[in-house]
This record gives sequence, C-alpha cells and structure tokens, in this order.
Amino acid sequence: MNLATSERPLRVAIIGAGPAGFYAAEALLKQKELICHIDFFNRLPTPYGLVREGVAPDHQSIKAVTRVFDKIAGNAVVRYFGNVTIGRDLSLAELKLYYDQVVFAVGAQSDRSMGIPGEDL
Ligand SMILES: Cc1cc2nc3c(=O)[nH]c(=O)nc-3n(C[C@H](O)[C@H](O)[C@H](O)COP(=O)(O)OP(=O)(O)OC[C@H]3O[C@@H](n4cnc5c(N)ncnc54)[C@H](O)[C@@H]3O)c2cc1C
Repeated sequence: MNLATSERPLRVAIIGAGPAGFYAAEALLKQKELICHIDFFNRLPTPYGLVREGVAPDHQSIKAVTRVFDKIAGNAVVRYFGNVTIGRDLSLAELKLYYDQVVFAVGAQSDRSMGIPGEDL
C-alpha cells in the first residue's frame, strides 16, 4: 500500500503549536498530491505559542495571524492535543510507533545566556 494516499495517509505529529508548527502543517496541507493526517501536541492547553503569550495585546495586526492558524486547525485531517509535554508525558520513541514523521517546532523555551556582566539585571 502506497504511503500518503487516501488508503494509507502520511501520519505526521507536530510538537508545538506556535507559528512554526502551524506553518509546517500549512506546507504539508498545500501539497495536494500528499494525503496526510496531522496531530498537534502542545505543552499548554491553548495553541499559538508566543503569538498568544508573547506578542503584546496592542499588536493586533500581528496577532491576526491566528485567523490563518484557526483555518488550519479546522481542517478535518488536523487534530489538537493540548496539555501534553513531549519528553515528559510521551517520548519520541512512543511517537515513532504511530507516526511516519515527527516535526519538532518547540521554539526557544529558555533564554540564551551571553555571559556578559549585568545581563541578569
Ligand atoms: C515578549 C515577546 C514579544 C514578541 N513580540 C513579537 C512581535 O510583536 N512581533 C513578532 O513578529 N514576533 C514577536 N515575538 C516573537 C514571536 O512570538 C516568535 O518568533 C514566535 O512565536 C516563534 O514561533 P515558534 O513556533 O518557533 O515558537 P513558539 O511560539 O514559542 O511555540 C512553541 C510551542 O511549542 C510548545 N512546546 C514547547 N516545548 C514543548 C514540548 N516539550 N512538548 C509539547 N509542546 C511544547 C510551546 O507550548 C509552544 O506552544 C515576541 C516574542 C516574545 C517572547
């Protein structure tokens, strides 16, 4: 049975539901010859990563990108599993049992120290 067909869709797990995760899903869904099912796993219950938690409320035009993400999330082949931390609740080895591809789009979850005096002020 051929992979990425309606008989056997490509099963993709995307870890992280921020912009990078949604753009990865969009790129997959745009390939009409590729039949895929996409599952998002996100550490937080809510999606959109730092667009929700980082971008300031007065930057509404930037936050408007979530309308595009809503459309992607509403696609019948896309599912969303919130409150799941990969590496704690599920391992990569477990995901590999069920998915053909695993995309990590987890952003930068901690600050990178530059080692300069006063940077912690
Ligand atoms: C304070 C602040 C203000 C900003 N303002 C702007 C702005 O005005 N304009 C602009 O263009 N950009 C702005 N940015 C930058 C923008 O938010 C980021 O560039 C963008 O969100 C990065 O997208 P991403 O998908 O790579 O990561 P993120 O948005 O960080 O998404 C990563 C996702 O992965 C999830 N995740 C992480 N680890 C795991 C795990 N182990 N298991 C499951 N899920 C996991 C997280 O919960 C998150 O949902 C701002 C950022 C910050 C911090």
